[in-house]
Amino acid sequence: MKRTVKIGGVSVGGGNPVAVQTMAKAAATDIKAIIEQAAAAKEAGCDIFRVAVPDMSAAAALREIRRNIDMPLVADIHFDYKLAIAAAKNRADKVRINPGNIKKAGLKELTAALKDLRVPVRVGVNGGSLEKSYKNSSDRASALASSAMDAIRLMEDLGFYDIVASLKSSSAAETVAAYRQIDKLCQYPLHIGVTEAGTPERGIIKSAAALGSLLLDGIGDTVRISLAADPTAEVKAARELLRAVGLDKSFVEVIACPRCGRCGYDVGGLAQKVEDYTRNVKKPLKIAVMGCVVNGSGEAGACDLGIAFGGDKAVVFKDGSVLKTVGADDAEGCLFEEIKKLLL
Ligand code: SF4
Repeated sequence: MKRTVKIGGVSVGGGNPVAVQTMAKAAATDIKAIIEQAAAAKEAGCDIFRVAVPDMSAAAALREIRRNIDMPLVADIHFDYKLAIAAAKNRADKVRINPGNIKKAGLKELTAALKDLRVPVRVGVNGGSLEKSYKNSSDRASALASSAMDAIRLMEDLGFYDIVASLKSSSAAETVAAYRQIDKLCQYPLHIGVTEAGTPERGIIKSAAALGSLLLDGIGDTVRISLAADPTAEVKAARELLRAVGLDKSFVEVIACPRCGRCGYDVGGLAQKVEDYTRNVKKPLKIAVMGCVVNGSGEAGACDLGIAFGGDKAVVFKDGSVLKTVGADDAEGCLFEEIKKLLL
């Protein structure tokens, strides 16, 4: 188990639930836009919110942002360690730095300041900005892990341990290999993600392939799905991933068969209606919508509630037993009646 690191009011590592992160898509100085994006992300289930801090005016804006969002605020810093110190002084709950573009002397000064201010850091290595000594390595996964460990050891030597690490690559395979390595090497929580994953259509699948593998192996304490889309899309995708790997059980899982030639009913349409209706319910329930008896009775019977079609009829199951048989035309109404009872 990883060490626990407190980021504002959220503890990561140490067996705490995997936290979902996203990043603002507006300049920190556009405080109104940042606050709006943070509120929408929070509503979608975000736990930790990150803002790019490219200059001192952005670092100064953090104080006002912090006052107006109710999530831990992370300052994302590249190149200039002084920005990270300014961000920490301006109430950032954590700073993310990239050891690939900050010199050792700067890292030392930053570490001393963070220790004084009691602000944690994320050592965030990125495949696109590896430091010179690792840039041409043929083993990219090892290079990512080694680069992070160099910075972590430097901080440990200065007595600083409030560290989170991340090793992001735009390749799913490289990301998985790198995290598997560092997981064995370090005691600190890991923030996992595939960098520059792309548009939602492809980026969600690429991220799910990499991050799903890691999470199923028990690797990952916070997660971000980086998409060329707004922050809420990232948060929704990350939440669904945690559900898919069984790390978030407080929701209504809708099991639906893909439908084939054995069924004439619009199973997908009904499943979608059930999913939309139960989207915000935070209870660990399972509802099955099945096209026929081949797998239908087994799946539907194993859920809290289920329906399996057959010819012009449908069988409704509750808690593993047949509740009733209705005509297919009445199936939707009957199913929703039972869903309402289930959610009471
Ligand atoms: S449950 Fe029945 S209708 Fe659905 S895919 Fe399987 S065989 Fe086809």
